[in-house]
Amino acid sequence: MNQTLTPDLPYLDENSEIENRVTDLLSRLTLKEKFMLLTSLGRRRLYSTKPIKRLKIPSFKMTDGPLGAAMHSSGFKKNTRFPATVSLAASWNRELMNEIGTAMGREVRAVGRHILLAPGMNIARTPLNGRTFEYFSEDPYLTKELAIPLVEGVQSQRVGACLKHYAANNQEIDRRNSSSEVDERTLHEMYLRAFRAVVKEADPWSVMTCYNMVNGVYGSENKYLVQEILMDEWGFNGLVMTDWFASRNIKTTEGCINAGLTLEMPWPNKYKTKSLEAAFRERKFSEETLDDRVRRNIRVMMLTGLFDRTENLPKGYRNTPEHQNLARRAAEEGMVLLENKEGLLPLYIDNLKRISLHGVNLRKKFGRLGYGGSSGVSPPYEITPFAGMTEKCRNKVELVRNDSSADVAIIFAGLNHGRGGDSESMDRESLHLDAEQVEKIKKVANNHPQTIVCLIVGSPIAMDAWIDDVEAVLLCWYGGMEAGNAIANVLFGDVNPSGKLPLTFPKRLKDSPAHNTGNPRNYPGDEEKRIYYDEGIFVGYRWFDNKKIEPLFPFGFGLSYTEFEFGSIHLNRQSIEKPEDALLVEVDVTNIGERAGSEVVQVYSKDIEASVDRPPQELVEFDKIRLDPGERKTVSVVVKAEDLAFYDVSRHDWVVEPGDFKLLVGKSSKDILEDADFTYG
Ligand code: BGC
Repeated sequence: MNQTLTPDLPYLDENSEIENRVTDLLSRLTLKEKFMLLTSLGRRRLYSTKPIKRLKIPSFKMTDGPLGAAMHSSGFKKNTRFPATVSLAASWNRELMNEIGTAMGREVRAVGRHILLAPGMNIARTPLNGRTFEYFSEDPYLTKELAIPLVEGVQSQRVGACLKHYAANNQEIDRRNSSSEVDERTLHEMYLRAFRAVVKEADPWSVMTCYNMVNGVYGSENKYLVQEILMDEWGFNGLVMTDWFASRNIKTTEGCINAGLTLEMPWPNKYKTKSLEAAFRERKFSEETLDDRVRRNIRVMMLTGLFDRTENLPKGYRNTPEHQNLARRAAEEGMVLLENKEGLLPLYIDNLKRISLHGVNLRKKFGRLGYGGSSGVSPPYEITPFAGMTEKCRNKVELVRNDSSADVAIIFAGLNHGRGGDSESMDRESLHLDAEQVEKIKKVANNHPQTIVCLIVGSPIAMDAWIDDVEAVLLCWYGGMEAGNAIANVLFGDVNPSGKLPLTFPKRLKDSPAHNTGNPRNYPGDEEKRIYYDEGIFVGYRWFDNKKIEPLFPFGFGLSYTEFEFGSIHLNRQSIEKPEDALLVEVDVTNIGERAGSEVVQVYSKDIEASVDRPPQELVEFDKIRLDPGERKTVSVVVKAEDLAFYDVSRHDWVVEPGDFKLLVGKSSKDILEDADFTYG
């Protein structure tokens, strides 16, 4: 940080209230300088704003996101690569999210950036979305519950989080010129809900608009979404930036500024000084509006300590053993054991002589520049599955290629961020693994009765062609730089898997909501590139439950090496009256197996009778607990009345309707063990 700043300027006084500092700096800016602060540095610096020498305003810098500090936007530095967001979400662990956020914040600070362009908050509407790996879930409740501690962690380091991509950016095909056609209830209930909660509860400092239009209006000029909903209704105080080049297709400068856009990235298009001057002169936007937009940008600069002395700011760290351990722990916690016939897993190292290893992802490194798109973090090293297995088996078990002499065969299959597989700007073409991989799995399984498939993917895949042939399936996701060690730890039982699916795995593409009709109007869009969200609020498990379609693996599902028994459910009251009320739900959980492990107690609510169509059940609470063998704990969770609400279009607001409700408690959305009734109102 610049140590030569003149101390007599009030906005530089670190002990003064932020709002006073912001007002002071704003009052010193000329009109032209205000315009300069609405956009970025330009072609050579795609992630920085314009500095203003006269007032010693340094350039304000950002980096992608969401897997850590990405290489291309952090000065080509190698940083800790954390597991992909979907993998973190599969941990269902709020504390872990906070640790990850804090660590990412430290890495961003260490590379001299002020904003992390994360988390990605979009809801998984289609399993084909190329960016599913960068998002949390198909469920807004799970998304917000995990995003809140993540954002708090990032911002604890005085690094701004950036919620993206606001809103209804649920596919990559035609993302720059399509329109997501969503009715008001669906928009609020499914696609805005998590943004709303994080804004209200975690106070994120920035939001990034989407490329696409929502109901015919681009995100960056969408006054309804930005000014009216985000700012006026939810009370968002931070800055709003475009996605990179998202303003290209937009018609007017005033459209953006009046809508609430405060920062155009990565270089001026609608916010060229000339265009801003002309529109201002013609009174197409007011000085008050301009000041609000500039004020927001300056406020975030202040919050991140842009004008403060380095010694008064949190210290940045990157690539520390602590961060690498955390990356490994997170990868372990996110892994989901999908299948384990006859308890083949965990493997007992002392009982094995040889393991055969196969698969396209066995030696694959994912942390390469641009892999997967803008989220590509390149770590200083990356443990592949092969390296992890080698380390674990050293001097104990021989790793071979040939199945005939092996005790167990393991295939590391999956996607790879390449074409058609979990990558920004393109969607996957199929739900299946490619034919060669399917053939390989079948061949190995045919050669060996004890075949394990480890899936390295960032989104759901179909398994009908091969799942019956294999003994075990471990969903490893993209596990970051320590993935190989994490996978070996889970396979050999050093770690008991405890991840639960944050999204439904359908049997067939046609079973999922965006693909059910097979009509392009639902996906990928009609001839006019309009994508109609005809399924409404019935997204993810809400759809499968409602249509009674059996998924391959349901939302919330995940096996363990131990077993948990649930006692009966106890509510502290049988009725709640007001939206501020809450219910205390208690259930005893016992580890009746032989290993320590963690279980996610999931609470769903069912509105017995409602004036609108409601899903058969919706997640309203969860808690993850760890239990030693034989140990019993009482899990207490609080279900808030507000989480029972739906979005009422006649009031344009959330309402909890009086009536009877049921609470369902279980290990997954399909494994409900206990229920209890209560009334509201
Ligand atoms: C992506 C954003 C990313 C931005 C900056 C865009 O292509 O959609 O998620 O933050 O680039 O790299």
